[in-house]
Amino acid sequence: NKFVSFDIKELILEVANFMAPQALMKNIELIISLTPESKFKFLGDRNLIKQVFMNSIKNAIEAMPKGGNIFITISNIGMKNVCIEIKDQGQGIEADKIDKIFDPFFTTKSEGTGLGLSHSIQVIKSHGGTIEVVSEIEVGTSFKFILPLQKEI
Ligand code: ADP
Ligand code: MG
Repeated sequence: NKFVSFDIKELILEVANFMAPQALMKNIELIISLTPESKFKFLGDRNLIKQVFMNSIKNAIEAMPKGGNIFITISNIGMKNVCIEIKDQGQGIEADKIDKIFDPFFTTKSEGTGLGLSHSIQVIKSHGGTIEVVSEIEVGTSFKFILPLQKEI
C-alpha cells in the first residue's frame, strides 16, 4: 500500500459527485456539509479510503428503497482528527445485528457479499481510525469514520 498526502474533504466531494446520479435515480439526495476553514490534510492510501466511502454511500442508498436524504458531514475533532459522517434515512439495523455488520460475509441482502464493511474496518484501522455506528429501525443509520489527520511539521 502506498501512502500519499491528500485532502480528505476533496476525496469525499469526489465520491459524492460520483454517487449522486445513481442516488438521484432512486430519489435520494446527497446533502453535504462542511466547515470551510477546517483542515483536512490526510496521509493514507487514497484508493482504499475512496472504496470505504463509496461502499458506505452505496449501503446508505440500498437502505432507502423509498428514497430520502443522505447527509454527509465532514468536520474536525480538535486539531488532529477528522470525522466523516454518512447518515441515511433508511430501514436501520436491528440491535442484534449491529455487532455482526463488520464480520466478513455478513449480509442481509439477497445479492450482498457482506465484504464491504469488513474491508472498510480493516482499511480504517490500518489508517489509525475508528468507525462508530448508531442506528434506529425505520429512522436511519449513522456511520462516523474518525481518522487522524496528517501531522504538520
Ligand atoms: P453488503 O452491502 O454486501 O451486504 P456490507 O459489509 O457493506 O455488505 O454490509 C453488511 C450489512 O450491514 C448489510 O447487509 C446490512 O445488513 C448492514 N448495513 C450496512 N450499512 C447499512 C445501512 N446504511 N443501513 C442499514 N443496514 C446497513
Ligand atoms: Mg455494502
